[in-house]
Amino acid sequence: MRRRFIADTWTSTTATLIGDQAMHLARVLRAEPGQVYDIVAGGFLHRAEITLVSASEVVFTLHEELEANAALPLHLLLAVFKFDHFEWAVEKATELGVGSIKPILARRTEKHLAQASAKRVERWRRIALEASKQSRRIDIPAVADPVPLKIALENETASTRILLSETEQELSLAAALHASEPTAEIALAVGPEGGWTPEEMTLFTAHTWRHVTLGPRILRAETAAIAAIAIASAHLL
Ligand code: SAH
Repeated sequence: MRRRFIADTWTSTTATLIGDQAMHLARVLRAEPGQVYDIVAGGFLHRAEITLVSASEVVFTLHEELEANAALPLHLLLAVFKFDHFEWAVEKATELGVGSIKPILARRTEKHLAQASAKRVERWRRIALEASKQSRRIDIPAVADPVPLKIALENETASTRILLSETEQELSLAAALHASEPTAEIALAVGPEGGWTPEEMTLFTAHTWRHVTLGPRILRAETAAIAAIAIASAHLL
């Protein structure tokens, strides 16, 4: 398999890698004009030929488009929790194919984490980029700026909206998905370490989110996120 890179900038006929990616290509892979790689440009995968190598950039001419898998129509609203665990969740959610990740400032998101999260989002985006490359995704899941729950719920456009709740005892995620539109965009919301507050649960209900359980065990937030994505992706395949 040819090596694959995600372009930093592109036009309809060319793609350019800059910074670390360009340096890696030039120094480690000894890139030269005429070499052929697979390049993701604007969400599409192309066979591409190097036309120029300099210290700061590598420019490609895009040839034919190649078959590639699109992201799942799956969107994760993830309450901000301890950063090392949160980063793990971003990486694994990306590998599993989520379309986007929306960090949420929940009532029980610790204050210092909420304050630091606006600056952390750049790091989460880098993690999503690296995990996209590693898992050979053609698109990088968008990681949104962290927002309070109320705003996220008002802006949510997915038609199937599912809240993962450790207090729900009846409806399983699989059953809720089975009852939903087959091709709909799906939003999944996972709470912080301390869980959602009763007020937040009520707010979800007001925005017509269905509450579902992943079983009788209390999972850590990141485990709940990964399990929910795996169950939902099985439903989408
Ligand atoms: N309040 C809990 C912990 C919350 S777990 C306690 O300390 O007892 C963190 C998040 O993971 C929850 O908000 C929920 O979204 C998800 N979660 C954990 N276990 C779950 C389960 N069994 N079913 C559905 N969601 C779960």
